[in-house]
Amino acid sequence: MTPPIALTVAGSDSGGGAGIQADLKVFAALRVYGTSVVTAATAQNTRGVQDVYPLPGNVVSAQLNSLLDDLPPAATKTGMLATAEVGAAVLAKARAGLLPNLVVDPVLSSSSGRRLGVVGAIERLLPYALVATPNREEASALVGWPVTTPADMAGAAGQLAAGGPKFVVVTGGDMVAGDEAVDAVWTEAGTRFLRYPRILTHNTHGTGCTFSAAIAARLALGDSVLDALAFGKQYVARALAGARDWKLGGGTGPLDH
Ligand code: PLP
Repeated sequence: MTPPIALTVAGSDSGGGAGIQADLKVFAALRVYGTSVVTAATAQNTRGVQDVYPLPGNVVSAQLNSLLDDLPPAATKTGMLATAEVGAAVLAKARAGLLPNLVVDPVLSSSSGRRLGVVGAIERLLPYALVATPNREEASALVGWPVTTPADMAGAAGQLAAGGPKFVVVTGGDMVAGDEAVDAVWTEAGTRFLRYPRILTHNTHGTGCTFSAAIAARLALGDSVLDALAFGKQYVARALAGARDWKLGGGTGPLDH
């Protein structure tokens, strides 16, 4: 059977663990046909991001035009939007209604501290998102106050949902305390928490990209949003567990797809 198309609009991670490379691995694992619009090249390995080279806005538009003309996506995820120009190129297509089932992963910086995305580009795109998947740090930057506890996460999810996305998941997998990973999910019917046993590993690079890509893949396959979110959470847990003892590189290693 012909698979549905899922599109990733994201940065390239030369190390293969995050960004476009992670997204395409998820799409392949979940049996959707993956297409990709590269927004930036990063020079990167498991130790961190050494350099970032955003592509010009017209190069991003050209890639989008090629795909929308011939390979229209059933679902799209956005990751790293490195400049306002890149953000505007994506926004134009979202505004035109060409990016259905849009999952916005508001990538702002790498866990090693390098700036990857611009807040303004994400804020302008959020009204067109079906789902947004900020982690606590990204949620803090978007709402303007520190998001630390699960109650904060729920509050931030509600605040962000007021700006457009029907579903907002604030992920808390980075929390150091507790033996559970907790995410807060805002839906029109109220807030709920997704919980999963914490998987202890230093190989966590690309977790956020993987989560949002899995959600987009399952939306492309026709899942309801809540089913896609629950699936995304399970997919990340399995990918973390699979790579728990891997030794790839000297830093934060990738996940097992
Ligand atoms: N590189 C790219 C291209 C990304 O899109 C992301 C995250 O979304 C990262 C790096 C950061 O990954 P991590 O948070 O695992 O450092």
